[in-house]
Amino acid sequence: MYAVTVIPGTADSLRLVDNYPEPSPQEGPVLVETLSVGVCGTDREIIDGAFGEAPPGSDTLVLGHESLGRVIEDPTGQLRPGDPIAGIVRHPDPVPCPNCAAREWDMCRNGLYTEHGIKARQGFARQRWRTQPEFAVPLAPGLAEVGVLLEPASVVAKGWEHVDRIGARSVWRPRRVLVTGAGPIGLLAALLGQQRGLEVHVLDRAEVGHKPELVDRLGATYHAGPVMALDFEPDIVLECTGAPTVVIDVMDKVGRNGIVCLTGVSTGGRTIEIDAGALNHSLVLENNVVFGSVNANRRHWLQAAEALARADVGWLAGLITRREDLDHYAEAYEGQPDDIKVVLEFPAAR
Ligand code: BGC
Repeated sequence: MYAVTVIPGTADSLRLVDNYPEPSPQEGPVLVETLSVGVCGTDREIIDGAFGEAPPGSDTLVLGHESLGRVIEDPTGQLRPGDPIAGIVRHPDPVPCPNCAAREWDMCRNGLYTEHGIKARQGFARQRWRTQPEFAVPLAPGLAEVGVLLEPASVVAKGWEHVDRIGARSVWRPRRVLVTGAGPIGLLAALLGQQRGLEVHVLDRAEVGHKPELVDRLGATYHAGPVMALDFEPDIVLECTGAPTVVIDVMDKVGRNGIVCLTGVSTGGRTIEIDAGALNHSLVLENNVVFGSVNANRRHWLQAAEALARADVGWLAGLITRREDLDHYAEAYEGQPDDIKVVLEFPAAR
């Protein structure tokens, strides 16, 4: 069968192979046919050789951690053939650490977790894959076209859940959220903010195009320009760019008792000058919390599935700005200026 593979650590080793072996029953009883996989910055880092790890005993890694598939069979009877599902990315470490033992693998303590298509576990960019029922998340039938957004939505759902939990440290009646970055993560973060009844502001570099349009359609306010030019103080910031200046500026900009959730993975290597003392001064005197958030456990995936089911499917479809079929797999992984989410479609999707 077809699979999109790389040799982790080797730049430009991206290949489409046509004789990849069928998934082993050891991967789980649920057999899934791939409809599509989403492409994100993590895939590009892996392709550049900067990230990613092949499973033990293999030198190749099948890419793909944002999945949409259809169940072929589940002998356990928990999923029905034909059901649209997405596969959970992270699996708990084998020790397991206290968090993985409690199925909170997104908070793994020892780093020995595995992730489909990223770390020591084959990805979903192959025609068929297998998993355990616990790692398959059913999608409402109406979401079949946009189900590939469930993975990024799960990451956002976790960020929001942790904002809520941190907020509960005192009386917490947030009004305004600032989302920095209008990529898929930022736009989904804005959607969840809007579903919480907050006043949502989204800031990005783009001045025209899909991004301002999508923000507008959500009923949120779009800003193009620097964070420090904003004329309000948000109660919550969901930082989704990873851009060093934006990261530092939002810590400064957030209001009293404010919470900043960092979700953007920076590449590092860029130095900017900051007044660390002044930053500390304002964080302390304003009771601010800045925290990082990665990945998602099953609870977050279910929250995300609910959020997507409540959203306007037409709006969600607008986030997918390009679909490439397998013949053009390499193009799918090459970013273009107007891309929001790019999806690689497998033959079963046609
Ligand atoms: C994925 C997460 C993953 C992280 C680090 C992100 O792109 O969405 O599930 O934990 O990369 O590997």
